[in-house]
Amino acid sequence: MPELPEVEVVRAGLARHVLGAVITSVEVLHPRPVRRDPRGPKGFATALTGRRIEDARRRGKYFWLPLDNGDALLGHLGMSGQFLLQPPEAPPETHLRVRLALAGAAEGRELRFVDQRMFGGLSVSDGGADLPPEIAHIARDPLDQEFDDDAFVAKVRRRSSGIKRQLLDQNLVSGVGNIYADEALWRARLHGERAGEKLTATQVRELLGHARDVMNEALGQGGTSFDALYVNVNGESGYFDRSLHAYGREGEPCDRCGAPVRRVAFMNRSSYFCPVCQPVPRRRRTAVPKAMAAD
Ligand SMILES: [Zn+2]
Repeated sequence: MPELPEVEVVRAGLARHVLGAVITSVEVLHPRPVRRDPRGPKGFATALTGRRIEDARRRGKYFWLPLDNGDALLGHLGMSGQFLLQPPEAPPETHLRVRLALAGAAEGRELRFVDQRMFGGLSVSDGGADLPPEIAHIARDPLDQEFDDDAFVAKVRRRSSGIKRQLLDQNLVSGVGNIYADEALWRARLHGERAGEKLTATQVRELLGHARDVMNEALGQGGTSFDALYVNVNGESGYFDRSLHAYGREGEPCDRCGAPVRRVAFMNRSSYFCPVCQPVPRRRRTAVPKAMAAD
């Protein structure tokens, strides 16, 4: 699944190649990727045709292309979505779903949305140029220049829920996926079940810094695929080839202390951690009602 750095790579690639382009025609080859657009495939195509792309922006894992009429093309890559800039005569990809012919930019190429599993999708957001209302509830991500570190630290420390759960809460901070959360927690030497309210402000601030570092490193890794005019995102970015310290390393020695990395089930996924560097917090005491305690 593309994580935020990969989505940012796509956004930056779109910004570089399609700004100022006019969408001259839209072809929807499968209805599912545009299912969130109430206009349907035809209306989706009509709403985009003739519009000029003014920018490429992102909130968490969503990105949008503000259009010259104040609407926006809103997109999410889901599990397997990709954007490709291809010459119009290039043969269609097996999972090509939507193609947008462009004029005036993009070096004569067309923009193709390719998605095998189709959890992602595209829609036209009415009046969404500044910020699509559909995603206004999603918090900023740590790579966003306007992310408020102090507010994040304060909110985390007011909550009793585990710190990893909070890192994955898109209403609190967006874009920190499972992999980045595990890596940031390993670097911060914190177990994901530690309660936010039990952490110091310094611990939360450092954890946020680690999450930012991990994401920036992944971003650096993903930045190369554009040279070939190939706006690529799939779950196999270069970051996965790098040495991860925790994620996916069950049974392998911790890079810091040598203890075998452990895996536990977490929210239908897995958490990886070093049991020595990131000790499991002691079980929270169950509150005993006063009347019973007195007996
Ligand atoms: Zn360790």
